[in-house]
Amino acid sequence: MSASSQAFPRSNGPVAVAGAGISGLSAAYTLRQAGIDVVVVDPRPRAGGVMETTRLAGCLVEGGPDSYLAQKPWATALIRKLGMEQELIGSNDERRKTFIVRDGRLVPMPDGLLMMVPTRILPMVGTRLLGWPTKIRMGLELLRGKPVDGRNIDVSVAEFFRDHYGQEAVDYLAEPLLAGVYGGDPERMSASSVLGRFVELERKHGSLSLGVLRERKAAAGKHPAGPIFRSLREGMGSLVERLVAAIGPERLLLGQSVVALEPQHEGFHVQLEMGAIQASQVILAMPAYAAAALIAPLEAEAAGLLERIPYNSSATVALVYDASQLPRPPEGFGFLVPRRERQTLVAATYVQNKFPHRTPDDKVLLRCFVGRAAEENELLRNDQRLVEAVLGDLRRLTGLSAQPREQAVFRWPRAMAQYEVGHAGLVAEVRQRLATIPGLHVAGNAFEGIGIPDCVRLGTQCAEAAIRASGPD
Ligand SMILES: Cc1cc2nc3c(=O)[nH]c(=O)nc-3n(C[C@H](O)[C@H](O)[C@H](O)COP(=O)(O)OP(=O)(O)OC[C@H]3O[C@@H](n4cnc5c(N)ncnc54)[C@H](O)[C@@H]3O)c2cc1C
Repeated sequence: MSASSQAFPRSNGPVAVAGAGISGLSAAYTLRQAGIDVVVVDPRPRAGGVMETTRLAGCLVEGGPDSYLAQKPWATALIRKLGMEQELIGSNDERRKTFIVRDGRLVPMPDGLLMMVPTRILPMVGTRLLGWPTKIRMGLELLRGKPVDGRNIDVSVAEFFRDHYGQEAVDYLAEPLLAGVYGGDPERMSASSVLGRFVELERKHGSLSLGVLRERKAAAGKHPAGPIFRSLREGMGSLVERLVAAIGPERLLLGQSVVALEPQHEGFHVQLEMGAIQASQVILAMPAYAAAALIAPLEAEAAGLLERIPYNSSATVALVYDASQLPRPPEGFGFLVPRRERQTLVAATYVQNKFPHRTPDDKVLLRCFVGRAAEENELLRNDQRLVEAVLGDLRRLTGLSAQPREQAVFRWPRAMAQYEVGHAGLVAEVRQRLATIPGLHVAGNAFEGIGIPDCVRLGTQCAEAAIRASGPD
């Protein structure tokens, strides 16, 4: 999101980018490509924000994101610009099978779901995941007519989905699928911001299932089939390394926060914990609550709105086993645990099935995801207690009782923005208000997409707006 693209008095200083996550790095890279000087500031000792790749017992371990949705083009475009195309890998979709926990047991997710929308009758009839009333309701949903006026007010994801398929489908499809991405509460999440495509399908077709089927028919043969998720051979951290190299490591000020911003006749005085920068423009690519603190003295209303965007905390726990420790090889990509099942675990990925080249043949790597809205007290446990809770869940749910050979915990406090009901309106108002501060731009996962591709898109757009605002040479 760009606060302003209007030209304003030019200064010769660099563009200051506050935040060295993928949003800030994408912005800084785009600016450097246009020959504009940048300084990237981040309080952490390393660049990448929540993107962190490491190695454990010969396995490539992702502490934060492990891949991105292939369907969204912006991350792939950035990877290509960086000359990393050869390093792109796809998820091993031949083994794509996901389980959902129901009454303490792993149940395969029925075939034919597009995200959470059922499109095939037989697999839905046969599944143990849902009871007959829900199955009948899913069949009848196909007969749902177009809404007379459409939905002109935002509703929660739970309300939207319940209206189509009932509460059980919210509990055992929508909630676990979205918790694995947002860690959020479907009763609070915005349908238009999180399920915008389905809100549009409802407007056009009434029935979501029918809408998906018609859309699919219209698109048949138009898009080449490819993997659902993409990643990089050496992990998402290799994208961070390549971005830093392209930006120039000397342009990164790590271990330093931006603590205040002061607009001046030409550009900004950017106060750091130690020292200051004279910047021509500023891109804030940090969590909304951190940006709010800097914006408050300049535009109190915009800051108040940014502060209202909640963030969830999460952690991933990587567990490495010798393959011989497991009674049988785990099946599929992994499993999701609905909140109703009352476990610590939100999801677990069997890495060797999703991205086989990331583990040696004799190792099994489980990537466990913890952290769900209103359950952050789980994260307050110390690392050992967190691991014990996760191991307890694995024992109950999968029968795996062996102790891992190696383990690692990665904590991400207040890193996942939550798009609550009314989010799009809030973001539009923030945009409008910040447009009164020329040269200030805001990026990050708080606005129009939490995934890596959307963060790349917004960071790049901010940089393009900054390039336009700096005027012709
Ligand atoms: C565990 C986990 C798993 C995920 N999995 C996936 C996935 O598989 N696929 C996917 O597409 N997405 C995934 N996501 C989401 C995605 O990774 C993030 O939304 C995205 O990386 C956020 O990037 P960002 O640059 O906006 O924010 P961050 O990466 O949070 O970076 C923001 C940076 O701002 C810095 N900062 C804070 N305050 C200041 C200040 N005052 N001055 C300067 N800098 C400051 C912070 O230190 C931080 O480094 C996942 C997220 C998490 C946490």
